[in-house]
Amino acid sequence: MATNTDLRPTSSLPPAEGSEGHSSSPVVLIGYAGHKQVSDELAILAETGARVVATVSLDTPEAEAAFAEADALMVSIQPVTAETMDRMPRCKIICRIGTGLDAIDIPAATERGIWVTSVPDYSIDEVSSHAMAFLLALARNLFRHRNLSQTGGWRYETERPIRRLAGQTLGVLGLGRIGSASARKGLGLGLNVIAHDPYIPDDRFASVGVRRVDFPTLLRGSDFLTLHVPLTPETRRIIDADALAQMKPTAFLINTARGDVVDIDALVAAVRAGTIEGAGVDVLPTEPPDPDAPILHEESILVTPHIGWASTEAGHDARTRGAQDVVRVLRGEAPRYPANSIQTQPVPA
Ligand code: NAD
Repeated sequence: MATNTDLRPTSSLPPAEGSEGHSSSPVVLIGYAGHKQVSDELAILAETGARVVATVSLDTPEAEAAFAEADALMVSIQPVTAETMDRMPRCKIICRIGTGLDAIDIPAATERGIWVTSVPDYSIDEVSSHAMAFLLALARNLFRHRNLSQTGGWRYETERPIRRLAGQTLGVLGLGRIGSASARKGLGLGLNVIAHDPYIPDDRFASVGVRRVDFPTLLRGSDFLTLHVPLTPETRRIIDADALAQMKPTAFLINTARGDVVDIDALVAAVRAGTIEGAGVDVLPTEPPDPDAPILHEESILVTPHIGWASTEAGHDARTRGAQDVVRVLRGEAPRYPANSIQTQPVPA
């Protein structure tokens, strides 16, 4: 058993005992410690007596040194490739303390007998609220009016009239956990809600209370189009110049899903050309973006730095539930939130 001291998140701890072999204590590598506290993880992982190496990314000397002995890897948005996995011969679980799994090579993990887990339910309320925050800010032209009021523009008219929200149509692409929550919040605001999702049954649309439509109808019919699909080969740039051209010139696009779901050059061009009215974007193809990226400087596009998930409670839930799955796998149990299926062996005592 490792002592409690071993649970300090540091790489300055001595190597695991007998490290030409392996310590009796499992080793957990946390690859996101620079911008998050890991006390939630440490409290949960203490059950296993794990030695925790916590570092800011997977590119640090501390991470390099820990790969060979790590029994578990916890990551935030860091990509995990097959090459990384090959450097972790003892690894039994890659735990993403978040939702999207597009940055992890799941087939490569499965081939190597490594569980991949996520925490799919930690920020449903937060992301759907963020989508609605974009919707309300765009509908009410908040940022334009804030700028105007700061410069003596105490009036309601602008180049864009404000339209009554009730009775407008919210389109939802992807009626999963977050899409359903956004749809329900949209209904609560008095919006008509239509949705497109080819992978769920009709009764799901009915239970949420929205009308099922095909993709072209969603594009043409939405006053606000909110994206809640995972990034897959099918959804990569599903919103391109052609899709934007089918939207209403008064419509707003809201993307809290993944940056590559939208062709952002086409989006900036569409807003400049008046093909659509504006957008709210929480996720970009490259994060962080170049500060000079045109999308950051377009008045009708609100950009936030991938904070859709963010709340104190969501952060706690993600870290706690992720660490609980690490403990399960280290004990030889199946995780609660698997993205693949593996026969797990307990770490020998
Ligand atoms: P989910 O798996 O519950 O729902 C996704 C839905 O998209 C599913 O119902 C699926 O059938 C549907 N879908 C897949 N391909 C589709 C297609 N081509 N067309 C239409 N629908 C399609 O996922 P979720 O929990 O609702 O999360 C959605 C996404 O939100 C995640 O994949 C992640 O990328 C993103 N996310 C962002 C943040 C943030 O901070 N901005 C936080 C959490 C999640």
